[in-house]
Amino acid sequence: MKNPKKKRKKPNLDEIISFALYADNSKLYSVTYRDFDTLVETSLENFLEKNEIPRHRIVLVKKKDKILYVKHNCCPKCGSSLKKENNEKICINCGYLIHLT
Ligand SMILES: [Zn+2]
Repeated sequence: MKNPKKKRKKPNLDEIISFALYADNSKLYSVTYRDFDTLVETSLENFLEKNEIPRHRIVLVKKKDKILYVKHNCCPKCGSSLKKENNEKICINCGYLIHLT
């Protein structure tokens, strides 16, 4: 057995995007993606129209204000990188703090 703990699986990025496009109102979704050193927020539809941006650059997906997806090691508030310090991770951009246990 691969996963005996039976944790409920979080939807991955592809699943969230498929759901938005085919089962929900995709106009309500926005994505934040990394463009070199900056983060760009745009609508999901807009993002998908620009086919040249690879999906793995997405750091955050939101439906209105609700965050549905955050890339590992990215701030859940703004999508910037997190810096590890002792028992905490701190967002380098907005200072958002995550306690590690
Ligand atoms: Zn942040």
